[in-house]
Parts: sequence; C-alpha cells; structure tokens
Amino acid sequence: MDLHSEHRSPERGIFCNRTLNLMAIKAIGFDMDYTLIHYRTDEWERRAYEHIQKKLLADGWPVANLIFDPKAMVRGLILDLERGNILKCNRFGYAKRAAHGTRMLGYEETRLTYSRTVVDLAEPRFEFLNTLFSISEAAIYAQLVDLLDSGQLPTGLGYAALYQKVRRCLDEAHMEGELKAEIVGNPEKYVELDPDLPTALLDMVDAGKRLLLITNSEWEYTQPMMAYAFDRFLPPGLTWRDLFEVTILSARKPAFFSSRMPLFELVEDSALYRPTVSGLKPKGIFLGGDASHVERYLKLSGEEILYVGDHVFVDVHMSKNVLRWRTALVLHELEAELVAIDAFSHQRRQLESLMGRKEDMEVVLNRTKVMISRLQHGRPQVSNEPIEVLQTRASELKSKIRLLDTEIGPLAKANDELGNERWGPLMRAGNDKSHLARQVERYADIYMGRVSNFMALTPYAYVRSPRGSLPHDS
Ligand code: IMP
Ligand code: MG
Repeated sequence: MDLHSEHRSPERGIFCNRTLNLMAIKAIGFDMDYTLIHYRTDEWERRAYEHIQKKLLADGWPVANLIFDPKAMVRGLILDLERGNILKCNRFGYAKRAAHGTRMLGYEETRLTYSRTVVDLAEPRFEFLNTLFSISEAAIYAQLVDLLDSGQLPTGLGYAALYQKVRRCLDEAHMEGELKAEIVGNPEKYVELDPDLPTALLDMVDAGKRLLLITNSEWEYTQPMMAYAFDRFLPPGLTWRDLFEVTILSARKPAFFSSRMPLFELVEDSALYRPTVSGLKPKGIFLGGDASHVERYLKLSGEEILYVGDHVFVDVHMSKNVLRWRTALVLHELEAELVAIDAFSHQRRQLESLMGRKEDMEVVLNRTKVMISRLQHGRPQVSNEPIEVLQTRASELKSKIRLLDTEIGPLAKANDELGNERWGPLMRAGNDKSHLARQVERYADIYMGRVSNFMALTPYAYVRSPRGSLPHDS
C-alpha cells in the first residue's frame, strides 16, 4: 500500500474541529448502521418508506400513489411540526430555506413566516433530521402534509399528530423484523461494500487500539450484516469478530450514554441472553448495559476513548456531552457533495471574482451617491465635479452592476444547489454555516465521509484543527 498516494482526494479526508492525537486514544467504539456499514440510502430508505406506506394503506389512508423521492430530504433539515414545514436553518437557527409539505416557499414567504422565529431544537415543535435513517420518514411526512391540506386524511389530525403517526410506523418497521429480514436476505442491494474498511480497523488493532462495536441493532441483524461487509476482505481465518474486543448489541443509545441499564451476555449458539453482574469481558457478545460498563471494563477515561457514529444526537452529542469521550461523525453523503464542490471550483473562482468586482463597484456607487446628496443639500464637498457628471457615473455604475448580476445569478444558483438541488450543501446555509454544521462543530471532534478514511491517516496521526476564519481575517 502506498500511503503517500492513496485516498488523498478531498472527499476521502478526515476533517477536524478539535485537535485529536490518535496516539492518545486507547480504545475506539464503533456504531454499525450507516457508520461501519454504508447503506445505499436510495434503496434502504425507499424500502423503509414503502413499509411506512404499507402501514398507512392498511389504515385506509390514500397513499398508494405516493412515490419515494430520495432527493426530497437531506440530513440536517428541521421539521416544524406546528406548521407542517421543512426548514434549512443557519447556525443561529434562522430559517434560510423552507418548504410547506412538498412545496418550496419563496424567499419572501420564508422570511415573513420565520422572521420572528429562532429555531431551537429543544422545543418539541422541531424535529432535527439527525441521520440518513430520517430521510424516509421526512419524505413521506412532507407528502402527507400535502394530503392533509387537501382534506384527504382523517379530520382532526394536525401536523404534529401526523408526524407522530409516521414516526410510529417507521419505529414499527425497524423493530418488527420484516424490513431487516429483507436487508439480510439481499444485502447486495442495500449495502455499499468498502474493501478498505477492514484494513483500516486491522491497522488500528495492530497499533494496539482496543476496538468495540456498540450498536443499537440486534444480534440477528448485526451478525449477518457484519459478516457480509467485513469477512470477505479480511485475511484468511479472520472474521469481523476478531476485530472487536467487545461487542454490544441493542445498546439503546442515547440512554446507553446517560443511564444505568442491566447487562446481558449472549450464550453463543443458543440465541439466549443471561444477565451478568461481572461486567464486560474480552470477546464477549453483550446486550444492553451502558457506557459505565465500558469505562469500567476498559479502565480508561473519556479522553482516551473515541466513539465513531453517524447519528448527530445519539452518537456524538450524547457521548461528548455526558461522557466527554472524543467523537467522530460519519457523514457519508458529504463524500458526493465534496466531489461536486471540487468539480465546481473553477466556477466558484469566477463567482468570487465577479462578486469582488460587484462589491468594488458598489463602494464607488455609494460614494458617488453621497457626493450627489451633499451637493443637493449644500453641504461642504470634497470634490468639485458637477452634479451631472456624478449622476451619469451613478447610472452607469448601476447598469454595470445589473449586467454583472446577470452573470452572477446563474453561478450563485448553481453554487446554492451543490449537493442537493432543493436544499443545497449540507454544511452551508447561504454563505453561513448550516445548523447541521454548527452541531457537527460542537459535538464531533472530527468528521469524515467514511471510516476507512482512517487508513491513509494511520492510527498514529495527530489530527490538527485548522486555525478557523473570523470575519475580520483579511
Ligand atoms: P446503530 O446505528 O448501529 O446504532 O443502529 C441503528 C439501529 O437503530 C438499527 O437497527 C436501526 O434499524 C434502528 N433504527 C434506526 N432508526 C430507527 C427508528 O426510527 N425507530 C426504531 N429503530 C430505528
Ligand atoms: Mg448508526
């Protein structure tokens, strides 16, 4: 393996909010779904969507003709359950884009609706799309808002109750086993294999890191999925089980990080669990328990443990806030977006240069307007140019700016549509950071498109955060 040349493309990077010395990390816990295992979101979420749809149909709802649009929603959007709206907010909680049901609101309508609202996720009115598992429920929720508005759903139902209904259906779909059985039965369709991933984890093990798998999934799902994604790429004789010192299933995160819960051990080959009071032990498969079992077993403190997950609230917010573990967030969709951003770099430079010219012209125009105004009001004047000359200059500048705008407009639009035509880049809201970006910087020490990006980094890396820019930086 040539570590100098492999995976140096921008989308395979590891991005750092807070400096992390991997040498100081003694144990690494991994989430499974959408972290170690990448689902093809189009397929997985389509199937989840169809399960929700089937349940609603069984209740007599007119949803047979609804079709899943995988691009309708992105992680980081916020559902406003009071209004049946979907929002993209900036880091301050101001809505920058909005849709009512499936209809995008215009700039003015968004501004008028939300000019007095600061979105605070602590309010039950708002639901944050924390993970790619949220894409299916948000997509169908928006379509159901349309149906509710047109009087096709049971009367008396509000936007919030509608969401609770969707939530229940998705919960059931995840828990009843039929959906999971379909995935296990046909993993080729749903899983995007990553041949580098087992090597990245083996490098960690060889470097003395203690690896743990901590997933909310149950054994019947975890075992076949991990075997499918890992075993084929491991050296002969090794399986995924050899990578992890301890495996914890049905972990019930986020409670896993904040509450005390009983621990059970799997009695292998019997599918039975027995309560255990002796705690975790090497190579064991456990169910439940909590983070205190992990810390006691590892005999490590929070700073020495890194947890890697995909769920913004469950995996990184909780493990950081409650336990002060070091945290890594996997944002798989960032990868395609970074490719698109990279491909757009020439146009972005064009856009920046045009904006620079526009700003320069605006400065001259504004100063010219002040000179005209001073002349008109008989104020002391620094220039002795006649008013007609100044007025001609002002009107020429205005037309030049209008002309520039015709060039800037399409480029700015394309820039705003990078990653997703409706919602734009994940981490940006206009020129500002998005609400998602704010959460990522608060709770994730590092973030990346996939776990195997650790391979090029090596387990010995000192990952440094960039200096960060401030508005007054030149
Ligand atoms: P993890 O990401 O490896 O911790 O596992 C996530 C588990 O949570 C998977 O088994 C999912 O099926 C399950 N899950 C994801 N979203 C939902 C939900 O909305 N309701 C119930 N279970 C869910
Ligand atoms: Mg997950």
